[in-house]
Amino acid sequence: MTRTRLALVSAVALLAGLTACTDTPRSRETSAAEATVTPETPASPAAPETCDARASFRPTKGLTMPAGSHMRTIRERGRLILGTTQDTLLFSSRDPFTGRIEGFDVDMGREIARAIFGDPGKLEIRVVPRATRVDAVKNGDVDLAISTMTTNCARWEQVDFSTVYFEAGQRVLVGKDSAVTRIEDLGERPVCAATGSTSLDNIGKVSTGPVPVARADFGQCLVAMQLGEVDAVSTDDTILAGLAAQDPYAKVVGPRFTSEPYAIAVGKDHREFTEFVNAVLERLRADGTWKSIHDRWLKASGPAPAPPAAKYR
Ligand code: GLU
Repeated sequence: MTRTRLALVSAVALLAGLTACTDTPRSRETSAAEATVTPETPASPAAPETCDARASFRPTKGLTMPAGSHMRTIRERGRLILGTTQDTLLFSSRDPFTGRIEGFDVDMGREIARAIFGDPGKLEIRVVPRATRVDAVKNGDVDLAISTMTTNCARWEQVDFSTVYFEAGQRVLVGKDSAVTRIEDLGERPVCAATGSTSLDNIGKVSTGPVPVARADFGQCLVAMQLGEVDAVSTDDTILAGLAAQDPYAKVVGPRFTSEPYAIAVGKDHREFTEFVNAVLERLRADGTWKSIHDRWLKASGPAPAPPAAKYR
């Protein structure tokens, strides 16, 4: 390894370890214990959906911030606290050169900060593992979680969700020379997904019986595949695109076999804040901001589709 390459690798390793207190002009980050923990609740229901998880609260007061609202509390605090991951390329991942966590999900958080403060930089990012993100919102450790997170009825029992801001679906990542063409081809073989993701549950529901193998995050699933510990990784196509971009010997195969509508998780005690977030999403859909964020991060996947329409309960 050349000295320059070695220096670069060390710098990347150093930055990857910098999860605490990185002050940047664009956003602030604080502590983040990454651990393999079991979530208190399953990521998706065992039974069929019992609610309309896509339907959220109508933003009746628009972008106003009445006295006593959670928006006022956030404004008085001086920053919005966002929970997200740091390893989801294109949605929320750490840029090794700047040390900042960036992506589609982070830009959504920045737009909510802009609506509260008139300044998208008033955002504190806390890195929260998938396994504990629902609890982090529930316990008030973060104001919201924007984290490639599917809205579903099991999670609605713990937290509230905004309207849907992105439509994803689960597919499969295998080695370039694999003969697998869809998830069913992996019957009785080990397939990896992150703890606390709906992906792990979905693998277990496939009729041919692939064996779900849990790792703390999807980066570790990719490593497990590279080491031959699992035959495939299966999760949202958004996340798989980011993994495939990191490994020239991997490919994404098969159709979407689930629907994963992403929404923003907010605490159940701040319904007015969920309504406010929905008002922000209305603005992003209508004024072209959603499209420019899509173009910024996901241009490689083709032209931006229409943003998902809002549905209210
Ligand atoms: N969207 C799925 C979920 O919310 C999988 C990706 C993830 O865990 O972030 O569980």
